[in-house]
Amino acid sequence: MDAGKGYTLPHLPYGYKALAPYISEVQLTLHHQKHHQAYVTGANAILEKLDKARKENADLDMKALLKELSFHLGGFRLHNMFWENLAPSGVGGGGIPKDTLAAAINEEFGTFERFKKEFTQTASSVEGSGWAVLTYCMNTGRLMMMQVEKHNVNLIPGYRILMALDLWEHAYYLDYKNDRAKFIDAFWHLVNWDAVDARFVTHQKK
Ligand code: MN
Repeated sequence: MDAGKGYTLPHLPYGYKALAPYISEVQLTLHHQKHHQAYVTGANAILEKLDKARKENADLDMKALLKELSFHLGGFRLHNMFWENLAPSGVGGGGIPKDTLAAAINEEFGTFERFKKEFTQTASSVEGSGWAVLTYCMNTGRLMMMQVEKHNVNLIPGYRILMALDLWEHAYYLDYKNDRAKFIDAFWHLVNWDAVDARFVTHQKK
């Protein structure tokens, strides 16, 4: 990698007020500009550390450095996907999946209601800070739920994330205090199923 190249905070695909009342302007603004930005900054700081050490041929604690890098990059990438799989309620967000994804959900889970129940239970039982994600297994072609601890732990290589829900308290505390269940319920009003379906179709073609 060229020294100086790094990560940048992506713009949201909608305005800060667009997800209200399910996610408020102040909550979304802080989440994007402070928390998501912190992972961008964190990842870039590690890249700089790498660049500097290479230039000076200095020693690095690779174990600690790579662990920190995976945390920040995991946070960076998961937030990118989270924003992309949301849309304003009624304007692309909410409702039920269509097309290829709808067929795959029915095949794997029987019904959309069953899928929704399993995802909700996956999300509500994440311990501490983490994520609930819907993934696609490149080996079996099956859909599978995963719980991600923090931003990086328990992600299984080879599984492609189709949909992600942030369950860190910073994602909902201003709007819902400690009521995670209410936030998860709000999430269903915001899911951009077209975006999730597009990701699914892309991975199926690989
Ligand atoms: Mn977050």
